Amino acid sequence: MSIATEVLVVGSGPAGIAAAATAATHGRQVLLLDDNLAPGGQIWREATTAQREEPDDVKRKTLLALRVSGARVFSGWCVFDAPRQQTLRALHDNGSELHTVDVSYEHLVLATGARERFLPFPGWTLPGVFGAGGLQALARGGFSVSGKRIVVAGTGPLLLAVAAHLRQMGGRVSTVAEQASRRQLARFSASLARQPGRLIEGLQYRAASGGSRYRPGCWPLAAFGADKLEGVRLTDGQRTWEEPCDLLACGFHLVPNTEVASLLGCALRDSFIEVDDVQQTSIPHVFAAGEPTGIAGLDSALLTGTIAGLAAAGKLEEAKALLPRRQKLQRFAERLKAAFALRPELLGLAQPDTIVCRCEDVTYGTLRAYENWADAKRQTRCGMGPCQGRVCGPATEALFGWRTSSVRPPLFPVPLSAMGAGPDRPSPNL
Ligand SMILES: Cc1cc2nc3c(=O)[nH]c(=O)nc-3n(C[C@H](O)[C@H](O)[C@H](O)COP(=O)(O)OP(=O)(O)OC[C@H]3O[C@@H](n4cnc5c(N)ncnc54)[C@H](O)[C@@H]3O)c2cc1C
Repeated sequence: MSIATEVLVVGSGPAGIAAAATAATHGRQVLLLDDNLAPGGQIWREATTAQREEPDDVKRKTLLALRVSGARVFSGWCVFDAPRQQTLRALHDNGSELHTVDVSYEHLVLATGARERFLPFPGWTLPGVFGAGGLQALARGGFSVSGKRIVVAGTGPLLLAVAAHLRQMGGRVSTVAEQASRRQLARFSASLARQPGRLIEGLQYRAASGGSRYRPGCWPLAAFGADKLEGVRLTDGQRTWEEPCDLLACGFHLVPNTEVASLLGCALRDSFIEVDDVQQTSIPHVFAAGEPTGIAGLDSALLTGTIAGLAAAGKLEEAKALLPRRQKLQRFAERLKAAFALRPELLGLAQPDTIVCRCEDVTYGTLRAYENWADAKRQTRCGMGPCQGRVCGPATEALFGWRTSSVRPPLFPVPLSAMGAGPDRPSPNL
């Protein structure tokens, strides 16, 4: 099956929605694809539980703009291959059948977002240890955290948002352990003096997670329990103590989803998709927006999405007019990166028997013998499991400085039949 569109947008988080709505409002025929069940991305993921959240103004306006724009929205579609020039291949699950669909486009906007970074430490694979955003998403999907003792640990602004949300859902969040030092956080807060909105947002999250201790300069050493999580050992560098908990929500900031971009051959810089002033990548007619171009939060996702949508609709002057605003948000992204930089102690937590690649059960001790990602992958199957290196790739980058050098289709596990017959493609290097 195949379909064609003028503008194809992959990812319906804030960046993709802004891009699709903008391009459609400027008269383009637009198709917006996403693997989730509804538009919204990570931040606006719909709750399927009774505890529905009231949409805030930004969410309401952005989704309304999409609805009235005329863009077609296909939810539950996962892009896993790029079989030909200007064509992506997606898998669609309609509830009873799987369909493989080739979508050809004149212009493409990649708005594939980011995922959490996990760092291995003893016990991190115990049942009860979750990604921070992952636990939040599960709770929105119906997993009950009510009455559960929870520790939130790692780094980045997401921790406070998650703690506030889990408390709202009845979780008993005892501690938010933020590895960044008090001094780094103070410097970051001072740099926000000209952006009071962000400070207020942070304070609101702090207030909403009230009752839990917020500990800067504190990180997990180990999670422990017989066959499921019973507690976490924390340290502030001076003191070490144990906190009993049922759930540990743990994430070390975010890493960009650049797999589709890499498959298309878009140039990356420092792991992010390289874009010019109008969000165009190194490949003509391919634009990128939101977190894959820099971890900078909601405002930046909306703005870069709008710029990409304008550029894809041929409105280059209007797109360029937004450049000063983009530069300001980029400066925020740089401050964010500096404030939540990983402390070196985190890279020494894994022990020889700590699992790093959890799909293939490859330990830190085994991986230490290799010099690079490609060798380790060939010899140990690290990164070859269902997540295709999405979890262990960034972890080995942090631990050993390895670069995960290539991607290959399918980007996600799909039935063999979905790969179809296509032109022979050269076998990529590992
Ligand atoms: C797990 C997680 C939870 C977060 N929670 C919060 C929060 O509570 N509050 C907050 O302020 N910020 C949160 N953030 C940060 C927030 O996501 C960003 O600030 C910003 O909104 C990102 O917008 P985006 O459009 O760039 O990406 P996203 O919102 O991540 O949207 C990208 C979309 O692309 C889809 N996608 C990716 N690859 C494919 C593919 N191959 N095929 C089809 N679809 C694809 C993804 O499923 C996703 O829906 C969270 C981030 C993460 C990773």
